Amino acid sequence: MALTPAEPSGGHHESVKTPEAAVVQLDSVRKEFGGITALDGVSLEIRPGEAVAVMGPSGSGKSTLLNMIAGLDRPSSGSVVVNGENITRMGEAALARFRRHHIGMVFQFFNLLDDLPALENVALAGRLVGVPARKARARATELLDELGLADRRDAYPAVLSGGERQRVGVARALMNRPALLLADEPTGALDSRTGEQVIDLLLDLNRMGQTLLLVTHDQHLATRCATRLVDFMDGRVVREAALERHEPWIAR
Ligand code: ADP
Ligand code: MG
Repeated sequence: MALTPAEPSGGHHESVKTPEAAVVQLDSVRKEFGGITALDGVSLEIRPGEAVAVMGPSGSGKSTLLNMIAGLDRPSSGSVVVNGENITRMGEAALARFRRHHIGMVFQFFNLLDDLPALENVALAGRLVGVPARKARARATELLDELGLADRRDAYPAVLSGGERQRVGVARALMNRPALLLADEPTGALDSRTGEQVIDLLLDLNRMGQTLLLVTHDQHLATRCATRLVDFMDGRVVREAALERHEPWIAR
């Protein structure tokens, strides 16, 4: 089946890792933009299978944190290790390749390519790491089927509902079986009923072993999905709490 995100990804000349190696290891990460301190000495570890929700007021550094972990930006000081690889000073090209192989990203506003149908949006993530077109399309098809979008494969983003767009975004993020799925406000642009479907999807993925890092204002998303809560304030972790995940009454 297509949804097997817990499998190790990539498989290209990496050092041998123990199965319990942290998926994310941030050590004293600072990030400054001019005079603004966006991250003020953040240390954070995420273990395989965790679903960590990062919460905190606007401007507290949550997106900056995700960007550090995704290798979209670099710390002013401190180190970032993802999936056993120190990416702090990795070269641009290697970093781009690393990100495509090992990290899946889901965005508030989906960030789909408008001129590609759903299937091609998903398959492209595979093409970008060198998967042949036929294989990429086959996996994209499987993923869209699993996510309830079998009849939307050929639809362009403009005709998809918000919830459908976000499920395409999740399928794309899963394409290369990432070690880590990052989501920045994944329900932020959705109504509550549609958001609920995305929450259920993320929860299912985590139950199947997918490690998640969610940034959200949505208390419901956090308490439904997360196994751990990390509160941010002024670029610092001010509270961490393990969550007892609320399981639904009726098994689905
Ligand atoms: P959050 O996601 O929690 O709302 P951000 O990480 O986006 O917070 O921002 C943290 C702080 O860093 C804010 O003060 C923001 O204005 C600043 N900041 C973020 N990105 C940049 C940037 N590219 N240039 C300048 N300042 C930035
Ligand atoms: Mg943000």
